[in-house]
Amino acid sequence: MLALYIFFQTLANSFLDFCFLLGYNKPMFRDIFKFKIWGDSLGIDLGTTNTLVCVKDKGVVLNMPSILALARKNGKLIGVGKEAKEMVGKIPQDILVVRPLQDGVIADFDITQKMVEYFISQAQPYRRLIGPKLVIGVPSQATKVEKRAVIDIGMQLGARRVHLVTEPVAAVIGAGLPISEPVGNMIVDIGGGTSEAAITSLNGIVISKCIRIAGDEMDQAIIQYLKENYNLFIGEQMAERIKIDIGCACPGSQKKTMKVKGRNLTSGLPDEIKLDSEELSRILFPIVEAICEMIEATLEESPPELAGDIMERGIFLTGGGACLEGLDKYIFKRTHLPVKMTPDPLFSVVLGVEKLLDDGDLLSLVELTPDFK
Ligand code: ADP
Ligand code: MG
Repeated sequence: MLALYIFFQTLANSFLDFCFLLGYNKPMFRDIFKFKIWGDSLGIDLGTTNTLVCVKDKGVVLNMPSILALARKNGKLIGVGKEAKEMVGKIPQDILVVRPLQDGVIADFDITQKMVEYFISQAQPYRRLIGPKLVIGVPSQATKVEKRAVIDIGMQLGARRVHLVTEPVAAVIGAGLPISEPVGNMIVDIGGGTSEAAITSLNGIVISKCIRIAGDEMDQAIIQYLKENYNLFIGEQMAERIKIDIGCACPGSQKKTMKVKGRNLTSGLPDEIKLDSEELSRILFPIVEAICEMIEATLEESPPELAGDIMERGIFLTGGGACLEGLDKYIFKRTHLPVKMTPDPLFSVVLGVEKLLDDGDLLSLVELTPDFK
C-alpha cells in the first residue's frame, strides 16, 4: 500500500514538474492535478450555531456559522456560513435560509450533509483518493439515532473512518484539563441550542445533564420582550447583537446602553428605542436561572469524591453563551464554587478534537464505543 502511495504521489509530482517546465503554472491547473492518496485527518465541532474544522498539523482552519441559503425551487446552494448568516432576515421569497442543526443534533440530514461537504471541501481543497479520517464531537445526550446520523454523513462524504467523541470530553481536553486522571472536572458548555453540564473523570463522563435552553433562547427572549413592551419588532441578528453588546446575567454586572432599531408594530414604520444592561439582565434572568438549576442538579448527583475535586478545582465554563457578561459571577453566587472560563470558550471542543487527531491512544480511550451501530 505504501509503495503504491509513493508511486502515485511521485507520478503526480513528476507530472506537475513537467507541466511547470511547459509553462503551465496557473494555480487552477495545478489544483486540478495536485492530489494526495490519503485524505487528511479532520476534526469537526458540528455546533447548532457554529461549525469549526481543524486539520491535523495545521490547526483550526475553518470557523463558520452553521447556516445555508438555498434556492426554494431547486435546492441550489446560494450561500454557506458567514455569507448565509448575513442574509438572515433580508432574503427574497425564493431563497430559504436554513440552520440544519437544532439543539446540537442534526435536524435535516440532507442539508447538514451539504453543509459539511462544503466545509470539508474548504478545509481540504485538493482531491484525495481515500477520504479523510474524521473525529466529530456530539452532545453527550445525543440518542443512538442522532449519533448514527453523524457517522452516516461522514461515511457518505467518503470518510475512511468516523470517530465520535462527546463534546464535554473534547472541551475538557481542549481546555487542557486532566481527562485521564482519577480527578473530577466539571465543564458547562453553553452553546446556541443547548446548555450541557458534565463531570468527567478517567477518560469518560460520570454524570451529565443537558437542557435545550442556551444562546438562541436568550435572543428569542429579547425579541419577545421588545414586542410585548415596546411594540418593536426586531430580527434575530439584532437580538444577538444586543445580547453580546449590552447583555448581562445579573443586575449591576454591566452598565451599558444601546439604541435598538426595528419596526413599530402599531405604525408599521421603522422605530428606535434605548435599552440598558439593567433591563437586559431582567429579560435574561429566567434563562440564566434555568442554566444554574441544571448545574445544581448535576452537582447534586455527583459522587462525593468527585464533588470534593470540584470544590477544589471549580466549574469550567465554555461555549459562546458562557461569554455572557457576569454569568461566571452569578454561577459563583449560586453555587459558592470557584467558576473559571476556559481559555477559548468558542474553541474548546475543536481544540480538544485537534489534540485527539494527534493522540491516537487517547482517542481510542475517549471515543464513543460503537454500541449504536
Ligand atoms: P454551538 O456550539 O451551539 O454552535 P457556540 O459555542 O458556538 O454554540 O456559541 C454560540 C452562542 O454563543 C450563540 O448563541 C451566540 O449568540 C453566543 N455568544 C457568542 N459570543 C457571545 C458573547 N460575547 N456574549 C453572549 N453570548 C455570546
Ligand atoms: Mg458547541
